[in-house]
Amino acid sequence: MKDRMPIEIKTISLSLPYKLGHVNCYLIETDSGYILIDTGCSNRRTNLEKELGSVGCKPGNLKLIVLTHGDFDHTGNAAYLREKYGTKIAMHYDDSGMVERGNMFWNRKNPNIIIRMMTPILFGFGKSKRFNPDLCIEEGHDLSEYGFDARVIYIPGHSKGSVGILTAGGDLFCGDLLTNIDKPVLNSIMDDSEEANTSVEKLKKLRINTVYPGHGKQFPMEVSIKNS
Ligand SMILES: [Zn+2]
Repeated sequence: MKDRMPIEIKTISLSLPYKLGHVNCYLIETDSGYILIDTGCSNRRTNLEKELGSVGCKPGNLKLIVLTHGDFDHTGNAAYLREKYGTKIAMHYDDSGMVERGNMFWNRKNPNIIIRMMTPILFGFGKSKRFNPDLCIEEGHDLSEYGFDARVIYIPGHSKGSVGILTAGGDLFCGDLLTNIDKPVLNSIMDDSEEANTSVEKLKKLRINTVYPGHGKQFPMEVSIKNS
């Protein structure tokens, strides 16, 4: 563990439409290219491309896009980037219908009627943004063939197909299970709270140093355990 080279993580924070805050994408530099975890919302596509370009991520060297879940504030640029950068998209099967159909409620239970009505207005997901993932990832999926020494941890709760990515060095990209806008907490928007709690318990048993959430700043896992 000790002599492992620390991986380069670039946090790209993009603002969401209607002043709904920010969403994070994480760009990982590997020996053979780049891995992008989540792609943000399409409203800030130009900013995202600028950030990718600023470190040398360009068409040809983006090896893989990994999506933590199907929500459109995380998947809004995936189809575009795949086409332009010639890359592949990986996500869990249980959220794939969301991005294939442009429906965030495809696999969710009892969504609030107001949220259901508001979502297409806030995060329209027209045909050009929809896509079929190239790769379905599940618990334990090893990403080392993409030059990324990390594995997939299945952590449903926020959505049925939510996954985390845990690196060999103990960095966890947790999607929207945990969030850190004011302080590290369980995300208040949950599709299944019981599953979310089970996912958190599962994370507590793993060796995790730093958590990189979908929204807010990175934080030490220890802090989140104390808060919960
Ligand atoms: Zn989100």
